[in-house]
Amino acid sequence: MIVVMEQGATEAQVNHVVQLIRELGLRDHVIRGTERTVIAAIGDDRAKNKEHIENAPGVDQVMPVLAKYKMASREVKKDRTVIKLGGTLGAEVGGKKVCVIAGPCSVESREQLLLCAKEVKEAGATALRGGAFKPRTSPYEFQGLGDEGLKILAEARDKTGLAVVTEVMAVDQVALVCKYADVLQVGARNMQNYNLLMAVGEQRKPVLLKRGLSATLEEFLLAAEYIISRGNPNVILCERGIRTFETYCRNTLPLAIVPEVHRISHLPIVVDPSQGTGHAHLVPDMCKAALAAGADGLIIEAHNDPEHALTDGAQSITPKVLSETMKTLKKIAQAVDREI
Ligand code: PEP
Ligand code: MN
Repeated sequence: MIVVMEQGATEAQVNHVVQLIRELGLRDHVIRGTERTVIAAIGDDRAKNKEHIENAPGVDQVMPVLAKYKMASREVKKDRTVIKLGGTLGAEVGGKKVCVIAGPCSVESREQLLLCAKEVKEAGATALRGGAFKPRTSPYEFQGLGDEGLKILAEARDKTGLAVVTEVMAVDQVALVCKYADVLQVGARNMQNYNLLMAVGEQRKPVLLKRGLSATLEEFLLAAEYIISRGNPNVILCERGIRTFETYCRNTLPLAIVPEVHRISHLPIVVDPSQGTGHAHLVPDMCKAALAAGADGLIIEAHNDPEHALTDGAQSITPKVLSETMKTLKKIAQAVDREI
């Protein structure tokens, strides 16, 4: 259930309701909106007597949350969540400004990453992507540089001010990745790795949660709920395409999810047209389409030498193409009342 406080309810009244929720054996999550404070009570409340909460001072109403996901739902929080990513360029997702996160699929070397970081920044990105730990379909393919890759990413942040987004694949990597990255990416293959979701929920850095290859929207939001319910509200959803019968592209990129997420959730959503299509020539147009559909950000694979990329070269655009694409994106942003 959620407890909606009256406008102007005092801090003491909010704390009192929190206390009552805890006495019922439920967990509380206080969400402060611009107009009102709402307190979500988490746990099975079906057999609980809620009358005294309804009658507590400062309470406007107590409502059941119909969605299975609670804290990710718009029923609980009407204002859109805005998440600061880190770095020094003001990277933020969920506000008026659309965030561009760009960089190679993998960190391959110091030279490669620093060059790419410099050029995506010049093209207009405010955050840098790059995998140090790579979830590869085959165990014989490049698995990433690991710790060394993280250090290179941190150096790129220090040199450019870009916020660093990188994947964490396992619970025992969370502390290490937190040490170097600004945003923890949970990959599509790990969207239902509940131990990992709980572990990234225990720390406070933003989490970029990618949609699983065969996950429904409800499963996706329930995965976000795992993270938020552990205490980390900074979840950025990422649509990266789903597996269908279609073969002309690597995945099918269902952009209708963007307005739908905005309707049912307050969480920001970014789109990954690189994993979403698998082909560099489709990436610029899908960036445009995603922005027009209301995406809060784009995460784009950009590589200086895609032909020789160790991973995902076929879907990587060059920083030059990114820069060209940004020109059109600026026009689209203006048309949909956003900035980029
Ligand atoms: C990636 O971003 O390079 C990646 C592996 O993404 P996903 O988990 O969406 O496949
Ligand atoms: Mn990739």
